[in-house]
Amino acid sequence: MIKARQKPMKDIAPMVAPFSRVLVLGCNTCSAICLAGGEKEVATLASTLRLQSRLNGQQKELGEFVVKRQCEREFVEEARELIQGHDAVLSLACGVGMNFVAEMFPEKPVLPGNDTMFLGLPRELGVFAERCVACGDCIIHLTGGLCPIARCAKHLFNGPCGGSCEGHCEISPDIPCIWQMIYDRLARLGQLASLEELIPVRDWKSNEALGPRSFVRQDLQLKEK
Ligand code: SF4
Ligand code: SF4
Repeated sequence: MIKARQKPMKDIAPMVAPFSRVLVLGCNTCSAICLAGGEKEVATLASTLRLQSRLNGQQKELGEFVVKRQCEREFVEEARELIQGHDAVLSLACGVGMNFVAEMFPEKPVLPGNDTMFLGLPRELGVFAERCVACGDCIIHLTGGLCPIARCAKHLFNGPCGGSCEGHCEISPDIPCIWQMIYDRLARLGQLASLEELIPVRDWKSNEALGPRSFVRQDLQLKEK
């Protein structure tokens, strides 16, 4: 899932300062799961901003709403009237949801309440870890199911660099060397021979070299008459 975290108040306060009516808009999917944009976070942020505005002698109006997903039109439609009734939207979605609200409401300022971090998982309570960079050409069948693009600082495809030391990455002893993990896992699976096959140089066109990516599932599109 997409992992995001709320920006600190020192960044949010100046963004909302020029607006009198601000809608804090949450997203009840990825953002809620990483505790950055669900009902609780929306309510907490809205009341903090309300309090702050009173302390500053202002009469800022803070609306609150949470849609199921800010990246899908049908759910954002549910917030249309509220969005139109406010001067700006402070979005607690990921960057995808924020972009989509901005596209749907071209006249409405959309402010990022969150920083979008990565595609990852909750490793333990309050600890999130990256697992995929959405490269567009998955190769983990060759690497024991573990991703060397997301998890190796150098994105190496064919074994570790010279800095790998006792299972740790050279950039920090707190980070395991993913190539050590790949080796251990392939050994456990009895697939070490696959390391002898070189993974070819990546054509990064599948990533972002050609600008924003999109793809079409023609089988899902309605046939035009
Ligand atoms: S290779 Fe890594 S970055 Fe690419 S799709 Fe697979 S898991 Fe994601
Ligand atoms: S030590 Fe391992 S994870 Fe770190 S950069 Fe080198 S190969 Fe990649």
